Amino acid sequence: MDIENLNGLLRPKSVAVIGASATPGKIGHTVLLNLKESNYQGGIYPINPNEQEILGFKCYQSVLDVKEPIDAAILTIPAKFVMDTVDQCGKKGIKGLIIITSGFSEVGQVELEKDLVAKARGYGMRILGPNIVGVLSNSDNFNGSFAPFLPFKGKGSLVSQSGALLIGIDAATYMRGIGFDKLISIGNMSDVDFADTIEWLDQDENTSCISLYIEGFKDGRRTIEVARKAKKPIVALKSGVSAHGAAAAASHTGSLAGAAKIYKSAFSQAGIIQAEDLDNLFDRTLALSQQPPLKGENILILTNGGGVGVLGTDAAEKYGIPLKFAPEDVQEELKKHMPDFGSAKNPVDLTGMAGNDWYFETVNFSHGHKWVDGLVVLYCETAMTDPMGIAKAIKDGVDKSGKADKPVTVSFVGGERSEKAMHWLVENGIPAYAAPDKALNAMAALREYQLIRETANNEPFVTNKADRSMALEIINKARQDNRTSLTEIEAKEVFKAYGLPVTQIRLSTNEDEAVKFAKEIGFPIVMKIVSPDILHKSDAGGVKVNVKDEQGVRDAFKEIMKNAKAYKADANIHGIVIQEMAPWGTEVILGSVNDPTFGPTVMFGLGGIFVEVLKDVTFKVAPFSKHQALGMMSEIKAAPILSGVRGEKPRDREMLAETICLYANMIMDLKDEISESDANPVLVYEEGKGLKVADARIILKKK
Ligand code: ADP
Ligand code: MG
Repeated sequence: MDIENLNGLLRPKSVAVIGASATPGKIGHTVLLNLKESNYQGGIYPINPNEQEILGFKCYQSVLDVKEPIDAAILTIPAKFVMDTVDQCGKKGIKGLIIITSGFSEVGQVELEKDLVAKARGYGMRILGPNIVGVLSNSDNFNGSFAPFLPFKGKGSLVSQSGALLIGIDAATYMRGIGFDKLISIGNMSDVDFADTIEWLDQDENTSCISLYIEGFKDGRRTIEVARKAKKPIVALKSGVSAHGAAAAASHTGSLAGAAKIYKSAFSQAGIIQAEDLDNLFDRTLALSQQPPLKGENILILTNGGGVGVLGTDAAEKYGIPLKFAPEDVQEELKKHMPDFGSAKNPVDLTGMAGNDWYFETVNFSHGHKWVDGLVVLYCETAMTDPMGIAKAIKDGVDKSGKADKPVTVSFVGGERSEKAMHWLVENGIPAYAAPDKALNAMAALREYQLIRETANNEPFVTNKADRSMALEIINKARQDNRTSLTEIEAKEVFKAYGLPVTQIRLSTNEDEAVKFAKEIGFPIVMKIVSPDILHKSDAGGVKVNVKDEQGVRDAFKEIMKNAKAYKADANIHGIVIQEMAPWGTEVILGSVNDPTFGPTVMFGLGGIFVEVLKDVTFKVAPFSKHQALGMMSEIKAAPILSGVRGEKPRDREMLAETICLYANMIMDLKDEISESDANPVLVYEEGKGLKVADARIILKKK
């Protein structure tokens, strides 16, 4: 869909309010009043067949009676009238429908909503909503909503799936001094969704940071793609953790995958910065909309109080940007602007005696110094100082340093005077917060954004030549048997077709055959039951490792068969596999799910029996680059085990990363066939020695 199309919807040059009402308190009245009070300069056309005039605007029977062109129609009429109105709007040549009306998919009217979109598309119209508050834009003096007023001015633009929350945020922007240019309510996302709005805001000249409140994506894969390409910072708060896929899952991966974890991973792949809560979304949006990214790791804290300095230091470490002492020359210069009992290290304590001059001099010097990559200025309100004076000194110091591409964040701890001063700072482009912790968190967001830019998200995805037809042959055979789960040997053959390093494996149906295969493969060997009815083989006593000779094979064969029958009397047993015994290695797990929002997604973690207890796993939506696969290894808590602890050699992470990519490639290529899979364990050896898939499982999609 053409993004130009959205201009008519999000920056309309003229609007009709369909269902405009003369009765104060009705939404159809409030919207019209808001358009008027926000001083919107475009044409305003109330539509109501029973009125001549509302709030001084001439009223029309229908949009078709309006002579002038109309960009957007805001609909506030009941759901049952919407369809007919869409026809009229289409005939009028309206570009977009802002459908405030509720009563569609959110109350189960899914078909009605689909018909609505189909009809609008037929006329080339885009739909925002339904079930929304509307659109607010400071730069266009446009309050096309029933939220109270345009938000406090700023350069962030917020897209919210929740309407009520958007109204709350709107009001809170003044209290908090957090500025926005646009607030866009997208409600049911019947047509325009997060992906569309991100794409559009990325080219909107009045937006410098895209801020999202998300309950769930409509098309996760496309949203990631669009976000990855965006040139502006994107910060998101995700709420609503559903337990889909967690219940009754047939594989380890299914029970470990939760919507929340996959979203988290998808955000990081998409280069979306995450917010912990609503406050944090505000704080991060403010910093990202006003300040350049933090290009290095050296941040300097200036303060007039030891207490806030320590709080800042703690927060810096907590958010991953720990403080370092400033170099000697920096300390020498800073000492000139503090009493003897001050400290020029880092945090730089100017002491309670610090007034406007000292703040100006130290801010000016440190913001200009090459060692300092980012500056955090803290201040506690004192009786001897005026917060506004300090605010102005800070702004002045920053401006006169001549360094425009270096971030600064501020925190004032104090009362009303401090609050006023911070509002002033925000209005003048410097993010200011009521707590030192927040100023440091904001700085950390600017660092995260820099790191996202550096990885550039442009690396190629790993793909390989695979024997797809071989894999499909095995899958189709299982389907002919009416099975949705592959046996280990079948799964390993599919894995092998995609280049994964599986153990050598043969299926035997009697003792003699077992002995023959064991000799061919070479002792020691591993023997396992093969039955579509036994998914967890060890639980059924169906695994014997380290079988050393012919007698061992014969004994194990009998025992495994006996155990399997005791476990499940009517189990359909295909036989017993004989496989090479892989040497001991670090056990990791690879898994996959076909996520309803994001599609094929890979899981990685430390394997073994504790995997489901520790839940130390990470996810990535396929496909991805080798660099990203390497990233997965450092995302788990057990990362040091792979990099080598206590004198152990590091594991072969290069090969593991390549294997993860091949695995991702497999689940992408077979996404219409595989619903879940895992390789558990994969035995990983020391650097240069590769790895082996010891066990494999594939659950097919039901067809
Ligand atoms: P389950 O169905 O119970 O998961 P596995 O095939 O994973 O059965 O076997 C259980 C354990 O036996 C594995 O976790 C691994 O430690 C060991 N194992 C299995 N196959 C091999 C092999 N080919 N070489 C070495 N160890 C193996
Ligand atoms: Mg296993």
